[in-house]
Amino acid sequence: MRILIVDDEPAMHDSYRRSFAPVGGAEAGALSAMAAELFGDEVGNGGEPDRADDAITFDCVHHMQGADAVAEIERAQAGDQPFAVAFIDVRMPPGIDGKETARRIRALDRDINIVIVTGYSDFSPVEISKVAGPADKIFYIAKPFEVAEIVQTATALGQRWEADRALRAAREQLSRQVIQLEEQAAELAANEMKAIHVANHDSLTEAPNRLAFLRALGERSKQPGRFAVGMIDLDRFKLVNDTLGHLAGDELIREICAILQATVPSGGLVARLGGDEFGLLFETAGEQAAEMACARVVHACSVELKVLGHAVQAAASAGVVTAGEADNRDPIDLIRRADLALNDAKRHGRGVARLFDESMDEGVRVRRRIETGLSQAIARDELALVYQPIVAHGTFEVVGFEALLRWNTREYGPISPATFIPIAEESNLIHELGDWVLEQSLKVLDTWPGQYVSVNFSPRQFRRHNFVGYIVERCQRAGVAPQRLQIEITETAIFDDADRAAETLYRLRQMGFRIALDDFGTGYSSLYNIRKFALDALKIDRSFIDGMSRERESAAIVRSIVHLAQSLNLTVIAEGVETAAQVDLLRVAGASHLQGYHFAKPLAEPLARDMAHARFIEVEPATGTLG
Ligand code: C2E
Ligand code: CA
Ligand code: CA
Repeated sequence: MRILIVDDEPAMHDSYRRSFAPVGGAEAGALSAMAAELFGDEVGNGGEPDRADDAITFDCVHHMQGADAVAEIERAQAGDQPFAVAFIDVRMPPGIDGKETARRIRALDRDINIVIVTGYSDFSPVEISKVAGPADKIFYIAKPFEVAEIVQTATALGQRWEADRALRAAREQLSRQVIQLEEQAAELAANEMKAIHVANHDSLTEAPNRLAFLRALGERSKQPGRFAVGMIDLDRFKLVNDTLGHLAGDELIREICAILQATVPSGGLVARLGGDEFGLLFETAGEQAAEMACARVVHACSVELKVLGHAVQAAASAGVVTAGEADNRDPIDLIRRADLALNDAKRHGRGVARLFDESMDEGVRVRRRIETGLSQAIARDELALVYQPIVAHGTFEVVGFEALLRWNTREYGPISPATFIPIAEESNLIHELGDWVLEQSLKVLDTWPGQYVSVNFSPRQFRRHNFVGYIVERCQRAGVAPQRLQIEITETAIFDDADRAAETLYRLRQMGFRIALDDFGTGYSSLYNIRKFALDALKIDRSFIDGMSRERESAAIVRSIVHLAQSLNLTVIAEGVETAAQVDLLRVAGASHLQGYHFAKPLAEPLARDMAHARFIEVEPATGTLG
């Protein structure tokens, strides 16, 4: 412990030296104990006075003049070897006196304990405290002093000084920790911001997600003015995912998101709601403007994109609803209505934008009613099958009949299969209906001399577990040869899982079942990519036959379909033949089989039976000049 002593009398220095001469362990221990008693703490020996190594050793520096002492303090501070205690004489001619010395020392070192050593009171303690305070660091010893008094004071003050320093160090560490804590808090806040970002953004596109979209919608709903909510959905996204892989799917989503962001009306919001679904929120002047804006967005999405090196034809559909100030502006309801419009867009041929109107909401209610009614239709005996003949071109021999389902409801009268089949397809009802249709169709074969029955299977039916086993089992139970059943399926059924479909079709055909691809030409497949499927017949969609006599294009398409089908050894059945002129055109084109109102409408069972037995259909010849 460093002690500074300043006194102008050499004799005094001798006294100090005697006082601070090294003491034995026991003595030092006794001093520590005294200090502990004096200041009521346990520093120093911690109550074990006989431990010599804990004894305080004093390192004294002596000066005769105040200025030298001040200079000493200065050096000590600079060298980080501070003094614990300074013993200062009051009168030290010719230099500065004790009071001034104390003042200057205090100015340099705020921790040092100052002991004023004085023969008589030149200054009152208050006066010295005033210039060299604080009072609890200024002490007085009267001259002449006792050795013990000096050592005792030095020991006690030294220990206190050390305790103070430890305390200050602790405080400083504490304040460093506080700073650290503040930094951590700041970091935490930053992380929270990040978490909020993550919670509100879609990681794939960095666009706002459903949560953020709902929030933005909620905010916008509270503001005045008309705005629009659009729902965008990619067409056939699943196909890209399934055929090119998920990475390609992700890439496509990102590309589309960028297109949406570039084409949404300025100031608008694009959010990814999930999967291949996006939400738009933008200001609009009115319904027409909103619909047009969405049409533009959809149009922009209809591009060929390079996705992981593959050319992908992108396409999207949109549904949009606007909310004026008097309208329902509930975010959930707006999204629901935009979704209804989107469904409508998808139903009516994809790649378009639809504006919501109330009838769509009505549509949903009707669907519910149909679903309920349909689930009871079999039990209520409301279903029936009708049969439409398929004839060979040239002879018009009836080679088979297509079974078509009819539903005659008690409440609403007849409902078209074009309406209820898609609804059944969306629920599990299609299986129940399909079972019934197949059973009836196989039963009716008994009444015909040899024709086949052509049964429609929806994609969902075709994809059911063990479709082959199901068909085989039903035919065996009905005692029907496979050649007498034609299975009609659409492209959608086979392309969603092409490999599995190819396998299923192959096995069915191996067993002798006939397989016809229905509605050919309306989907996205070409003859090129159907060649790997085991098929017997292509049914050319009614829309081409309908257009044949009017547009050269349709006629050309029909001709090339027939031509290519022949090269694949496929029978071609032309659907929806209504006129003799079409019959002629189809003969020229080379279609081998025909079906349509020109020959017969779908017939009830007794009429179909008569026709089956008659074997040929007689129709009026063409009136045109083709021949
Ligand atoms: P589809 O398989 O394309 O059936 C042909 C549709 O065209 C039938 O309509 C038929 O009545 C109609 N049609 C036939 N010839 C002509 C014609 O010359 N002109 C016009 N304009 N139409 C003609 P339908 O019976 O209303 O059936 C509609 C659709 O419902 C069917 O289209 C088929 O996809 C589905 N469907 C009908 N019955 C069943 C069934 O039992 N199961 C399944 N899964 N779907 C069925
Ligand atoms: Ca059909
Ligand atoms: Ca068809």
